[in-house]
Amino acid sequence: MALTRAHVLGGLLAVGTVAVGAAGQAPAQRATLPGLEKVKDNLYVIMASNPTPRSDFTGGNVGVFVTDAGVVVVDTKLAGYGPDIIAKIKAVTSKPITTIINTHTHGDHTGSNDGFPASVDIVAHENTKTNMMKMDAFKGDKAQFLPKKTYKDKLTLGSGKDRVDLYYFGAGHTNGDTFVVYPSLRVLQTGDMFAWKDAPLYDRSNGGSGVEHPKTMAKLLAAVKDVDTVIPGHSPLMTLKDVQEYQRFTAELLTVTQAAMKAGKSADDAAAGIDLTAKYPGYKNERTKAAIAAIYDELKK
Ligand SMILES: [Zn+2]
Repeated sequence: MALTRAHVLGGLLAVGTVAVGAAGQAPAQRATLPGLEKVKDNLYVIMASNPTPRSDFTGGNVGVFVTDAGVVVVDTKLAGYGPDIIAKIKAVTSKPITTIINTHTHGDHTGSNDGFPASVDIVAHENTKTNMMKMDAFKGDKAQFLPKKTYKDKLTLGSGKDRVDLYYFGAGHTNGDTFVVYPSLRVLQTGDMFAWKDAPLYDRSNGGSGVEHPKTMAKLLAAVKDVDTVIPGHSPLMTLKDVQEYQRFTAELLTVTQAAMKAGKSADDAAAGIDLTAKYPGYKNERTKAAIAAIYDELKK
């Protein structure tokens, strides 16, 4: 079953009942984007906003890397923000936008691909392209805004100070999440493999896996060490220590969920008894129930 944008956003919007608009429709009153925030030298971020209330939600964090050859944009927020993103980039550089990297398929990371010139090279993991092809937003004429370049394990763009490394280490949030590393700046952009300090969203319809997620994060940490600054999917800047802690969090969430299942508990009962926030200061417990339900769904198969 193809996941509609309403499903995706519904999933992103914490637990409980939060009204979302009809699939594919931008909110009537669109929240304005913040300006570019400098991360390091030629790297900026257009910060994510809170997914709740819905009217404030603009999508995930967007990376803007100004290289000699042109600007690399990592993720494109919800639909309708293309002109805003381009205007904000034009305020800091006259270089052309040459490349978009989509960290994964969700509409709050790919929504404004169609707001960029068709000449822009769009890059994503091969599974993400497959997932994006299922989305109404990329059907018909809009297929030109699907990734043109895909990769399987690793892809390097540019060289020297302009180098960008794309890594795929396995499933987690979806089955096609890219980690973006800017080696010269010692910065890692995680997409929604590390979106926030709360339980992850496991999008089972797009191959997401709470069983694989801790392993995938461990592979990332084993391979990518020369990083100070981390751009998460939907949170302010963090450090590699936060990613290490998150890997432990996801592993523990899986372990306690598996134990609850073994003890014969329902997913709801398991969720009622699981709260890791005391052990992980600063973490929220708003998405635990949904993550546990997804892990149950996966383990039952
Ligand atoms: Zn996502």
